Parts: sequence; C-alpha cells; structure tokens
Amino acid sequence: MAGVSYPYPYEAPVSQTLFERASLVTPGGVNSPVRAFRAVGGTPRFMVSGTGPYLTDADGREYVDLVCSWGPMILGHSHPEVIAAVQAAVARGTSFGTPGEGEVALAEEIVARVEPVEQVRLVSSGTEATMSAIRLARGFTGRAKIVKFAGCYHGHVDALLAAAGSGLATFALPDTPGVTGAQAGDTIVLPYNDLEAVRAAFAAHPGEIACVITEAAPGNMGVVPPGEGFNQGLADLCRADGALYISDEVMTGFRTSRAGWYGVDGVRPDLMTFGKVMGGGFPAAAFGGRADVMGHLAPVGPVYQAGTLSGNPVATAAGLAQLRLLDEAAYAKVGAVSREIQGLVTAALAKEGVAHRLQTASSMFSVFFTEDEVRNYEDAKKQESFRFNGFFHSMLAQGVYLPPSAFESWFVSTAHDEQAVERIAAALPAAARAAAEATA
Ligand SMILES: *Cc1c(COP(=O)(O)O)cnc(C)c1O
Repeated sequence: MAGVSYPYPYEAPVSQTLFERASLVTPGGVNSPVRAFRAVGGTPRFMVSGTGPYLTDADGREYVDLVCSWGPMILGHSHPEVIAAVQAAVARGTSFGTPGEGEVALAEEIVARVEPVEQVRLVSSGTEATMSAIRLARGFTGRAKIVKFAGCYHGHVDALLAAAGSGLATFALPDTPGVTGAQAGDTIVLPYNDLEAVRAAFAAHPGEIACVITEAAPGNMGVVPPGEGFNQGLADLCRADGALYISDEVMTGFRTSRAGWYGVDGVRPDLMTFGKVMGGGFPAAAFGGRADVMGHLAPVGPVYQAGTLSGNPVATAAGLAQLRLLDEAAYAKVGAVSREIQGLVTAALAKEGVAHRLQTASSMFSVFFTEDEVRNYEDAKKQESFRFNGFFHSMLAQGVYLPPSAFESWFVSTAHDEQAVERIAAALPAAARAAAEATA
C-alpha cells in the first residue's frame, strides 16, 4: 500500500449490503451514531468475530482493533477465562429478577478497589449510571442546578445533552431536539479546565447547585486530561458550597489503573459512575460513593431508582471475571503497549511533517491534528480533523481499526502483542502520508 493515498481502491461488499439492509430498518443503519462512519465517510464495517487484539469483518478482513468496543475489552476479545465465566453463568439461567451472589461479588470487588466507594448500585449502562447519580445528588441536596463541562460526555441523559449558549456560565441550551428547555435549563455548561468559571458559577448561584459532574479524565473530546489541581479544585469548591462532586469514571474506571482515575490522582469524589470495563463486554454499569448519600436511594431512602436487568447474572459474571484478571501486571502491560503505539504514531506523523499532538490519560490516548495543547473542547475543535479522515481510511485499508472520529480516545488491551504492534507499525507510514496530503 506504500505510496497510495486515500481513497484506497478497497471494497467491503458484504458490509455494504448489510449496511443497506440495516438502513431500511434502523435509523442510519446503526444503534449508536458514531458507528455509522459519518465523520470519516465510507461504509461502516460489520464485525462478525473478535479474538485477542483482532476483529474480523463480514467480508473476512482482519483488523488490529484500537477501539476495543470503546473501552470495555481491556483483555482483548474472547478472553478464555471471561468466556468460560459467561458460559457457566448462562448455563445456570440468564435472569431471575431476584438478588444473586454474582452482583454482591461484583459490588464487593468495586468497593475493594475504589476507596471512596462505600456503597454501589448496579445498573445496565453508563447513561443510566450518570442519570441516576444526578437524580440522587438532586434528591440528597434538595437543589436543582447542575454543572457540567463542554466536551465531557456522560451518556445521553436529557439534562446532560446541553451545550453552552455563549460565553461563560450561561445557562444551557438543549443540544438536541427532544430535550426541552426545562430539562436543560438547570444545567450550567462551563469550559473544561477552567476553575475560575466554576468559582464564578458557585458565586452566582450559592446554595443552588446540586452537583458538579465531570469526566475524571475526559476521553470524549479526544483525550484532554485535567490540569494540575483541577479535579481537587472542583472537589474543594463543591465541599465549600455543600454541592456533590460526581466523578464520571465510565471510561476511565478500571482502565487507567486498578482504581481508575481515582487511583491516579487520588481526588475524593462524593459519587462516582462506572461502566465499560466493569461489564466485561456486557451491559453492566454502576454508581456509588458515600454511604450517607447512597442511603437516600430506595428502598432505604426516598430517591427512586430501579432496573429489571440490573445486576444481571451473566453481565456480572463477565464483569467480575474481567476485573479479577486485571492485576497490576495487566495495567503495566496495557500501559507499555499504549506507549509503544503512541511512539510509533508520533514518529510516523513527524516524519511526514504533520502537525499533531498526542495527549494521554494513563493508557488512554488520542492524536490531535494541531500543534497546540488541547485543554478544552474549543481547543479540540481547532484541529485539522480532515487530516484524521485520510489517516483513518489508510489505516482501515491496511487492517487497523481506529475510532471513526478525530474526537475519540484510542484503546488498547493486554492482548495487543508484538505481532499486532508490528501490523500497526507497518500501516503507519502510508497513513501518515495520507494525513499529510489530506485537504479540507
Ligand atoms: C461511554 C460513556 C458514558 C455512557 O455510557 P453508555 O454505557 O454508553 O451509556 C458515560 N460517561 C462516559 C465518560 C463515557 O465514556
């Protein structure tokens, strides 16, 4: 492929046929928008199987996977011990609608790993976790307003699908039709990494803010780690006003360390949310934190929250098996392979003279096509994302599956071995050239 620039003459006829079928019965042919490749163009690949660091699509092409299901597959695909735990759980029955030991064991594992989590409740998605944490914060404090940061994603919760109208500390406008002004009207959207803006919001609304919710280390605008003292500053400002500090660790939890981002920066939240890695590839998520706050949840307290499939025995078996395999050695391995790939990407882009910046949060990383540091969403949007599209399609054509957007973290697993890294290394020179030659 050397010397060839995007668009490549490669085809995916089976994926194309499946996409056409899908588009008739499902809006845009997908069940989650970014999967549709709209940002990068082209036909989304329909995957049929995954083993270790590889995915195989419906046309029989194999890819090194740098998405890892957007984070969950930190042990790679079809890890034998996780699969065995799932098979054993399935054989016992798939859902009982009663309490079961698996959910107790998973909750104990989370409580043991993440010191600020005294109690935890299991749910089925990260969206449910953040939605429930916000309801609980409002119920606990008796306050309505919430603070979030532009560029942080917390799932598709109505009140959190809001962007700032203009400038600092303006009240949010709904980001999407279907969210009413009332649902978004109590949401204050602030620029990320700007503690002064948070201080000003508390000064303007003393005693009215129920909580500040933030990604522990954002990965949904590309990777934009918190600046020195930012998370601690949030915790301090919340405490001073009686608001709750909610750290959303759906992406970072059990990925960036044994105890997630809390294990990296040690800043103590009142509530935390988890998902992705803790489900082992199944729908399991959680929110938890201070026992006195969690004690406000039904059935012990007045704040209602429930779920037919919450604590599902198959999902909890998968999550527990995965977490039990994630020891210090596993995190060291993920960190090492992440650094190796980062180094290869930077070297290839530098060789072609492509302005870029690699940003990391532990083993999470992303490439911004700009020279300048990216500290918030406004900075992220200034990158030359058209270069990413050329880069992406070149990698795809050469059998490396990247997230199909310039605003997403890349993920690796313990299964990414030397062979997988070599395949990435072999694909990078042509992809870097495609990025260099890309035009807006
Ligand atoms: C993925 C994600 C969510 C939403 O989780 P879902 O399981 O997709 O609903 C929430 N917060 C963060 C930080 C995430 O990365």
